[in-house]
Amino acid sequence: MRHLEVRGLTKRFAADSPPAVDDAAFTLDPSEILGIVGPSGCGKTTTLRMIAGFERPDSGKILLDDQSIVDLPPEKRRIGLVFQDYALFPNRSVLRNVLFALHRTNKRDRLSRADELIAMVGLSRERDRMPQELSGGQQQRVALARALAAEPQLLLLDEPFSNLDAALRDATRRDIRALLKRARVSTILVTHDQDEALSFCDTVAVMHDGRIEQTGSPESVYLQPRTSFVAQFLGRANLLSGRATGDSADTDLGRIAIATPASGDVTLSLRPEHLTLRAAGDAPPAGCSDEEPLACVGQIVSREFRGHDITYRVRYRETDYLVHTDYSIDHAPGTRVYLIPRRPAVVL
Ligand code: ADP
Ligand code: MG
Repeated sequence: MRHLEVRGLTKRFAADSPPAVDDAAFTLDPSEILGIVGPSGCGKTTTLRMIAGFERPDSGKILLDDQSIVDLPPEKRRIGLVFQDYALFPNRSVLRNVLFALHRTNKRDRLSRADELIAMVGLSRERDRMPQELSGGQQQRVALARALAAEPQLLLLDEPFSNLDAALRDATRRDIRALLKRARVSTILVTHDQDEALSFCDTVAVMHDGRIEQTGSPESVYLQPRTSFVAQFLGRANLLSGRATGDSADTDLGRIAIATPASGDVTLSLRPEHLTLRAAGDAPPAGCSDEEPLACVGQIVSREFRGHDITYRVRYRETDYLVHTDYSIDHAPGTRVYLIPRRPAVVL
């Protein structure tokens, strides 16, 4: 049985504007972490607010353990919420913030349960501090402990990490994912950050203009995008048009392998890390040779060194291609290079 099932969920704020959420559907298994990822304004928060009960859908179903919750008020849904701005009580200690939410626990056990939750989020030493004496990451963990205190059947996280600076964000994300997995809480994370969605979630739903364009494991949405939006939103992608015959296609980069057989006109996606470079030497080669059927010669127009890897922009026949290589493949801008696909291109 699915823990949460959402079908045909639609919400329009004004009759003359397109729906904010348009026929959205997804499911969540017990203990699963689902990510809804998409650019700002695509309908993520509205989707969460309908699940939480703050917004009424125009149509569609929301089933929690097979029971419709659409007619229940928010406080009857047993859904926990954590937003980007923590919303802690500023004049209450960590302990009192958590105690406040333990209304389902009988009075005798509240203090020990609060201490347990505070230990679970790693804040036992900060138990008696006030929120303003904590870092952003610590405040976010208090908010999480408080949300878990109410024993929610489902936890909704709306951009919970976006107010944290980069170093803290990575660590907080890792901690919170581990904690949710230990506590076996079914969770939906909403974010505009594709790296966060890919690393934090078991399943990722990519949202665009109110619609969910693709749902799948992080690996499948990244490696087998079905639309050019998904390919470009989840990292960088080189899009090529070509003519496919079977398992290859003729493109500006010559004849290249494709991941699924196709025929006719196609749009293809090649991730920068699925292309590599080799210096072409000084002599201009006479096009692609038989021995190097996939290689074409372009010129490096920029190089972005990032420690463990390097991103190049290579211009070939007036088009720029992004190439992401290991730090050991090191060429200066201006170098003439072969562009070599390392994996079959994905057909969009
Ligand atoms: P996201 O969380 O993905 O950034 P939202 O769900 O907040 O997107 O918003 C989706 C769309 O719905 C946006 O165009 C936004 O302006 C509109 N919208 C959101 N809430 C309201 C509201 N209460 N009234 C009118 N329009 C709204
Ligand atoms: Mg939002």
